[in-house]
Amino acid sequence: MRRTVSAKLFKEAQAFFPGGVNSPVRAFRSVGGIPLFIERGDGCTIWDADGNRFTDFCGSWGPLILGHNHRKVREAIIRSAVRGTSFGAPTRLENELADLILSNNKFVEKIRFVSSGTEAVMSAIRLARGYTGRDKILKFEGCYHGHSDSLLVKAGSGLVTFGNTSSAGVPESFVNETIVVSLNSEKAVQQAFANFRNRIACVIIEPVPANNGLLIQDREFLQFLRAACTKNKTLLIFDEVISGFRTGFTGAAGYYNIQPDIITYGKIIGGGLPVGAYASSGKIMSKISPDGNVYQAGTLSGNPVAMSAGIAQLKECLKKDFYNRLENMTRVFAERLNSYAASKNYPFRVFHLSSIFWFAFTRREKVQSASDIDPSGMRLFNILYHEMLSRGIYFGPSGYEVGFISQAHTAAVLEKSAEKICDSLDACFASKKRK
Ligand SMILES: *Cc1c(COP(=O)(O)O)cnc(C)c1O
Repeated sequence: MRRTVSAKLFKEAQAFFPGGVNSPVRAFRSVGGIPLFIERGDGCTIWDADGNRFTDFCGSWGPLILGHNHRKVREAIIRSAVRGTSFGAPTRLENELADLILSNNKFVEKIRFVSSGTEAVMSAIRLARGYTGRDKILKFEGCYHGHSDSLLVKAGSGLVTFGNTSSAGVPESFVNETIVVSLNSEKAVQQAFANFRNRIACVIIEPVPANNGLLIQDREFLQFLRAACTKNKTLLIFDEVISGFRTGFTGAAGYYNIQPDIITYGKIIGGGLPVGAYASSGKIMSKISPDGNVYQAGTLSGNPVAMSAGIAQLKECLKKDFYNRLENMTRVFAERLNSYAASKNYPFRVFHLSSIFWFAFTRREKVQSASDIDPSGMRLFNILYHEMLSRGIYFGPSGYEVGFISQAHTAAVLEKSAEKICDSLDACFASKKRK
């Protein structure tokens, strides 16, 4: 497979951008090698700058639940763009997308659109602090909530810790307001509430943690969080930037039937354009400016072209059996790979929920917290990654990232991809044996 054009473009890019990229994982540092520069996408296929063709399981990291270049989304974008791209004034398109969401989601009453998942979470945290009058927030190790200061924090050692910054440039004093505990540990959460009585504004969790492997939680744990938050007058934030409109139209709140206090959205909501949102009850949202005293604003918030893409995409998601079909396709794909790995006795397992899946090099039945992940498996993933790439299968370039099935992945494509992945697994474990 020739990569000469990608290599040349990457070399040029190094002069323009730190690491040659505009978002770090894209640089392929985790798996090694040079990133593919993508020319075009259609359905579940992408083509790189050298003309190589791949079946895409990254889906732009989640937004493209209909696949690339979906006709209805593309036409909506064009229809909107020819009328002007931004006004900084309200448009009917914002009402339309909000209505589509709110009238089909019993967990939220009011919404505010922003331009990214990071911005949605940052705003939701400010709202929770403004509403409760408390400063501390509690997050879980292994959950990603975008790159705002108070969330770039990882656990220290111990059951309940203030985090350590996971980035330079985050002041120590910010980090001291963020408590970090392990996923799937009721004991740690109870301890945190005991240590910081009446001081925790919110507990934030990815209800389907999908940014550090796929760490599927038991419903009981999420129910426990709901009850603990209610008891302590702490707001429960579901960060549904990945799970929103993915595990069903009502996201993880609907999947588990648990009512959080605030929900954040991103990725799918914008149909491949930059949109984020946070939503809650009318009462909590009344704290947001201009109704209330929690300030939040955005020059391009509710951008008409992005709203149009979101409307077109979410209308497709609302069609009958949309999510059932995706979930069934994903299950068949994952089970096919799992039974192959089992027949070969490979320490490999595909975890999946709805149309999200994750390849783990493990023999564990369940992987539910960051510490359950064996980092030595990443070396194998990196071998597998390049074996898959050379067979025309594209994944996000890190073993900690999940894959996505879109509506454009047909049963035939998935079967063919599964065959190639099985061959890749054979090559991967054969190379391991040689060493
Ligand atoms: C992707 C993601 C974010 C950040 O969204 P951006 O649009 O990349 O800023 C936040 N939370 C979760 C759960 C995510 O998956």
